[in-house]
Amino acid sequence: MALRKIRELGDEILTKKCREVKEMTPRLKELVGDMLDTMYDAEGVGLAAPQVGVLKRIVVIDIGDGPIVLVNPRVVSEDGEQEGNEGCLSVPGKAGIVIRPNHVVVEGFDGDMNPVTVEGEELLARALCHELDHLDGIMYTTKVQGELYDTLPDEDDGVEEE
Ligand code: ZN
Repeated sequence: MALRKIRELGDEILTKKCREVKEMTPRLKELVGDMLDTMYDAEGVGLAAPQVGVLKRIVVIDIGDGPIVLVNPRVVSEDGEQEGNEGCLSVPGKAGIVIRPNHVVVEGFDGDMNPVTVEGEELLARALCHELDHLDGIMYTTKVQGELYDTLPDEDDGVEEE
């Protein structure tokens, strides 16, 4: 298990656009494994490569239904609307209200570069949108309705850390 350092808000790399992955190399496989380890260790539900300092279009997500690895993901359809709390491993101790589509369909490739389609509603739709935004250098803090608020440490208040 290898944990990578999670970059935090203010780090320039989080505002940069990521490059497409052309082929899955052993080095990138290791990155995907480390991203999963890092996400689980930090108790997040998603992590994007730029959050560990790599400008590649790769995200990992697990909302409790098992790991999803997406390479070169893109939203192909979205509908509905949901308003809810959102957090980010790159913005520790904070959360805010963000409006997202309630349903999205994402196409991309899995960790072996096989084409995959992932369809998500509610929390999964939110996680997909949040993580895909990271690949274009967009932080959820730019989409928050009103102000960010502090989340209390050591208290499970149901706020999702992504
Ligand atoms: Zn995030």
